[in-house]
Amino acid sequence: MDQAAEDPDSFAGMNLRPELLSALSGLGYEEPTPIQREAIPAILAGRDLLGQAATGTGKTAAFALPILARMTPDRREHDPVALILVPTRELAVQVSEAIHRYGRELGARVLPIYGGQPIVRQLRSLERGVDVVVATPGRALDHIARKTLRLDRLETVVLDEADEMLDMGFAEDIESILTETPATRQTVLFSATLPARIDKIARKHLTDPARIYMGRESAGEGEAPLVKQSAYVVSRAHKPAALGRVLDIEAPTAALVFCRTRAEVDQLAESLNGRGYRAEAMHGGMDQAQRDRVMGRLRSGTADLIVATDVAARGLDIEQLTHVINYDVPSDPESYIHRIGRVGRAGREGVAVTLAEPREHRMLKAIERMTKQPITVEKVPTVADLRARQLEMTRSALHESLLEDELERYRVVVDTLTDEFDVVQVALAAVKLAHEASGAAADEEHIPEIAARPTRESRPTWASGRSDGGGEPGGRPDSAARGGRRGGASDPGMARLFVGAGRIAKIRPKDLVGAIANESRLSGRDIGAIQIADRFSLVEVPADAADEVIAALRASTIKGKSVQVRRDRGGR
Ligand code: AMP
Repeated sequence: MDQAAEDPDSFAGMNLRPELLSALSGLGYEEPTPIQREAIPAILAGRDLLGQAATGTGKTAAFALPILARMTPDRREHDPVALILVPTRELAVQVSEAIHRYGRELGARVLPIYGGQPIVRQLRSLERGVDVVVATPGRALDHIARKTLRLDRLETVVLDEADEMLDMGFAEDIESILTETPATRQTVLFSATLPARIDKIARKHLTDPARIYMGRESAGEGEAPLVKQSAYVVSRAHKPAALGRVLDIEAPTAALVFCRTRAEVDQLAESLNGRGYRAEAMHGGMDQAQRDRVMGRLRSGTADLIVATDVAARGLDIEQLTHVINYDVPSDPESYIHRIGRVGRAGREGVAVTLAEPREHRMLKAIERMTKQPITVEKVPTVADLRARQLEMTRSALHESLLEDELERYRVVVDTLTDEFDVVQVALAAVKLAHEASGAAADEEHIPEIAARPTRESRPTWASGRSDGGGEPGGRPDSAARGGRRGGASDPGMARLFVGAGRIAKIRPKDLVGAIANESRLSGRDIGAIQIADRFSLVEVPADAADEVIAALRASTIKGKSVQVRRDRGGR
């Protein structure tokens, strides 16, 4: 940390106030994200800024830290120095909470104002005086008209998620608000995409802005290793359970789980140990001896999971690593590539799994574009999936024992019991005991399924005009392309088919999609959720085409082999 003060790429080298550095260290941020590295110095220097950045890149801190750094601590003036305009109420709350956390030691007064909340409460807070207002444009205009929000003292205006604000029809409101702000103000515009209409606003309202683009095509292109990549979309609250479920299904020999902050690393390692996994934390606050001890435990098999920040994982080379898990979507595509590059080396087959929150879907798309490799969005395994998998493991263990073990000395047990019970009943009791002895316990937590883009998908504006290529890559028949239609999974119009080949036969979703699309009149888009277990797969197809698909698949081969296909008994 000593050299950090001179390092312009560290928070300490950025001219932020000590109160902010202490807040960041308390939150466990170890180093700035790429967006922060570029944006913070530019904004601190007073420049306007045009930044392409989606949720998950650390953009909130990128604009919040310089705003707070320039503010007098415990400022007592009435009117705000900064106005941050955001498209939705959720984002208003989220951004103001983040700024509150960063600015707590500075005594920063932050207020979210949005439509739907009683205006009286907002009036009272505004009356008491605020430093930073985070508002949706409509409600901001209401307060400006009532003169309850005065903008004369504004030094900085931030337009956050500007493309979303335009999509939601806030263009005129933004114009009106900007005309009420001082001409001397600094303007910062962040947008996930930079279509022409954003450019127009930038040209009109920004002066010689610094420009930041995320995931430039050239950087790192072609470097992505060949690793099986998948993602699960889950809400923050269900992430620990979802991770547990994924670990149980994937059963990694050794996995590296990445978190963004030191605090998250500690929390997650603790929660995983509490759930019965053997996890070790590793972060930048640990010295070499501590790190060596953690590595020793992984090598000796005393631990099978390392939970780490990017900083801590630098330089780690773990021979037996089979899985990289991104507990959060990394803040830029390059660091994703670095992370997953730790598996799949030297011909070893690696797996990378990313847990993404619904809002981070766009980051996944940016990563896919940059790596030019698909990330399959899969369903979080259900309790039933897990149970099925565990029973399958018990079955395999028994099968192996039947083939390999010397079982004669147990015959006396079976013989005596069969005087009283049917032999199948005896077998059932033995299977039960074997199953329980394997430690198979399914957690019962229900993890709700979330569509990849929950709020926007249904809005007609989405369909009409994304000019950034942010849609699904054309015609790629993987389950990511079906992610938006996840509703289909619970759709009574779909039927679930059992296909008697799975992971062990190296079946991938695209093999199933390919086989179905080749052999029936369905196209990739008609096919619903696909789950692949070790020995079988489940595929959802439109119910009225189910018989046709079954007949067609029975008459053909998948990966050169004929396979068993039928309606799944547990399915619809
Ligand atoms: P944002 O893109 O602003 O929504 O931020 C995404 C997430 O990254 C938030 O949970 C932040 O708390 C976290 N974050 C932002 N900056 C950093 C950083 N430098 N190091 C670790 N986490 C960060």
